[in-house]
Amino acid sequence: MTEFILLDKQKAEKAIEILESSYRNVKYYLNFNGPLQLLVAAILSAQTKDTVVNELTPELFKKYRTVKDFSEADPQKLLSYVKRVSFAENKVKHIISCCKIISEKYGGKIPNKMDELLSLPGVGRKTANTILINAFNIVEGIPVDTWVIKLSYRIGLSKSNKPDEIENDLKGIVNKKYWKNFAYVLKEHGHRICQSTKPKCEICPIKDLCPKNGV
Ligand code: SF4
Repeated sequence: MTEFILLDKQKAEKAIEILESSYRNVKYYLNFNGPLQLLVAAILSAQTKDTVVNELTPELFKKYRTVKDFSEADPQKLLSYVKRVSFAENKVKHIISCCKIISEKYGGKIPNKMDELLSLPGVGRKTANTILINAFNIVEGIPVDTWVIKLSYRIGLSKSNKPDEIENDLKGIVNKKYWKNFAYVLKEHGHRICQSTKPKCEICPIKDLCPKNGV
């Protein structure tokens, strides 16, 4: 196995600039209206395709409109709306528990602080960052999903496979003005060019900078 090559800061910044300018119009991929819908959609999306979540949320959000609706939901009934997502039963439990806590502890309002979001069942740092950025426009960090993990390694931005360490590595390299969309830029690059099994390095805009770790 070849040795991992970490990109030096100057090259990393250049690669990030090129990627950012290549995918200027990317945006968050789950459909939602307000913090509650984003919280629910983000919990449902773990290890599930965004398209599946986007297909089922319109009906779900027609039936369940408030924190109270979710906190008092009958688990089997709620499950019938979301059964196509992976780990649906667990996610239903998390959504109901989250909304109970939000009702009791936060007066029915989705919290907008990292530590408060992290205290909710089913909410990890990726989801908390996603909610802060997309529902509250608060940019504290970079959401780290599977695309960020894979591409950060290939491009030589982080050697780690642990999301928290990757986020810290990225925060040291990526200009803060790009944090908000960085995960969505990498996801788009992964879909279009740096694909999982067969990355198209020959047409990649950062091919002269990227060390192509593990490719
Ligand atoms: S497609 Fe190849 S050159 Fe481009 S980012 Fe992926 S591994 Fe690097």
